[in-house]
Amino acid sequence: MRNKMPWVDRLRCDVESVGKSCKAAKHCPHGAFTVREKGGEGKAHDVFIDWERCRRCGECSHACDLFAVKMV
Ligand code: SF4
Repeated sequence: MRNKMPWVDRLRCDVESVGKSCKAAKHCPHGAFTVREKGGEGKAHDVFIDWERCRRCGECSHACDLFAVKMV
């Protein structure tokens, strides 16, 4: 049973600069890990994990070059 879930280390995460190019989001096979615009200026982004879709597979963690996504 997969009992770990993805957690984003905000100090490492660079989604503010890479936006929709976030590798973790691109590699999520279930569409659970997504990048969303914060609104307002339309430039700032943030990551969002849909826990209803997440299957705890860990692909997002493997995909992030900055090791910002950890399975905890
Ligand atoms: S653990 Fe798997 S399903 Fe969940 S957000 Fe990461 S890549 Fe997507």
